[in-house]
Amino acid sequence: MEKNHNHNKELLNIEAAIIVIFIIMLVTMVMFAATFAPAYPVASILMIIIAVLSIFAVSLTLTKMEQIVGYYVCDKCHHKYVPSYKAVLWSMHMGRTRYLTCPKCHKKSWQKKQY
Ligand SMILES: [Zn+2]
Repeated sequence: MEKNHNHNKELLNIEAAIIVIFIIMLVTMVMFAATFAPAYPVASILMIIIAVLSIFAVSLTLTKMEQIVGYYVCDKCHHKYVPSYKAVLWSMHMGRTRYLTCPKCHKKSWQKKQY
């Protein structure tokens, strides 16, 4: 259990690292696009499109990672469960706390991620 806990913590550190690297990459791409826009407008637009598409790809991948790491506990009945990818993707969230429907009691509540 302790090993699993450390493993989950490690995965979250990797997630944080991916976000930092990705933001640096995006800022670099946008600065490049802005700098070369007058001389190479098509290349600059393409770079912005790639940047936007990669935001979606990275967000979806990180959401998948967040879904499979750890579990959520229902605030109403304390049932522990791993929600579906769809439920995680479409739920409102503040950080790692999500507004989810419990599969056991079917009530909606704000649920914090547990490791
Ligand atoms: Zn419940």
